[in-house]
Amino acid sequence: MIIETKLPKVGTTIFSVMSQLAMEHKAVNLGQGFPDFEPPQPLRDALNRAMNDSRNQYAPMSGTAALRERIASKTERLYGRKVDVDNEITVTSGATEALFAAIAAIVRAGEEVIVFDPAYDCYEPAIDLQGARAVHIPLTVPTFAVDWQRVRDAVTPKTRMILINSPHNPSGAVLSAADLDQLAAIVRDTDIVVLSDEVYEHIVYDGARHESMLRHPELAERSIVISSFGKTYHCTGWKVGYAVAPRALSAEFRKVHQYLTFCTFHPAQVAFAEFLASDPAHYLELPAFYQAKRDRFRALLKPSKLKLLDVPGGYFQLVDYSAISDRDDFTFSKWLVQHGGVAAVPLTPFYETAPQTRLLRLCFAKSDATMDAAAERLCRL
Ligand code: PMP
Ligand code: GLN
Repeated sequence: MIIETKLPKVGTTIFSVMSQLAMEHKAVNLGQGFPDFEPPQPLRDALNRAMNDSRNQYAPMSGTAALRERIASKTERLYGRKVDVDNEITVTSGATEALFAAIAAIVRAGEEVIVFDPAYDCYEPAIDLQGARAVHIPLTVPTFAVDWQRVRDAVTPKTRMILINSPHNPSGAVLSAADLDQLAAIVRDTDIVVLSDEVYEHIVYDGARHESMLRHPELAERSIVISSFGKTYHCTGWKVGYAVAPRALSAEFRKVHQYLTFCTFHPAQVAFAEFLASDPAHYLELPAFYQAKRDRFRALLKPSKLKLLDVPGGYFQLVDYSAISDRDDFTFSKWLVQHGGVAAVPLTPFYETAPQTRLLRLCFAKSDATMDAAAERLCRL
């Protein structure tokens, strides 16, 4: 039998490759983005209770009412937008499922989706599987800002969706209110849907505020906004996220979601609903929590030969290693995990056409001990 692949460009993700190499070489793993500390104890207790209280069968297709209510009140509190609990919120099996369901529900064969490079790796395969085409626009180095003129020039009658990610992975760049106005002007009077990946919505620094599409009344009317409890509550392995979108978009989104997974892990939904009700401050404290980690990590790396780029949001530090090596980022990161004892992520896999930068991504969602061990090795380079 001959199996002709539908995804010829896809191999094993750089995250799995780097985590595997980190294990093989006993390197400190700052590659794949996940915290090496535990979710809050009351949240873990709530999960255990839910499992022991018989909440182990299918959840409602769109998510439990209690969790959707908590998401609705968070959305109103943070972004001033009232959303309909029954028709505008869908709980998903991580942001990854939500991104796939949104693209599959909206994008047709032959259409175009604008993505910004470096682009998170699950976007393009989902677009390719629809028979659509990703149109890549590079963010400007070193600030990773959007060049809106390039976006205007890239829009065609075939453009069906623009995929936004702020705070941005891997760069940490965040969009401003002025950026959102630029986007609104571009999509006004079109049928373009904005798919907004906001999984790091609660991780912005230096007093800045996250500019959600949900805060912008005009954009919110045409946006599917996606978030992930994995990022907010230090539990990336639970795979629970959600999508907020106006009723008509949510209805299309749910047509895919109900046959992709039908519903999401029930006990975790019970636990999140309980925890959000009892400790609504957790996500408000997240910027300070991660800012302390960011600043500590940057201070540890100061004596090194690495040049540290600014980190306005997210939990990744980009470093320029050109004072250490002129090898390309993929080759250098392989060398680093094998001989330098630290796993990082190169940026090339997130580009259609990678620029000749010498940048690596390091995850600082780590305990002090992990950061210390990594920094000691990085300072030796
Ligand atoms: N989007 C971005 C930008 C991410 O960084 C991640 C995970 N790191 C995801 C989506 C996927 O989130 P989840 O693990 O909830 O599927
Ligand atoms: N989103 C995580 C990162 O950017 C990785 C998720 C995964 O391994 N698929 O590192």
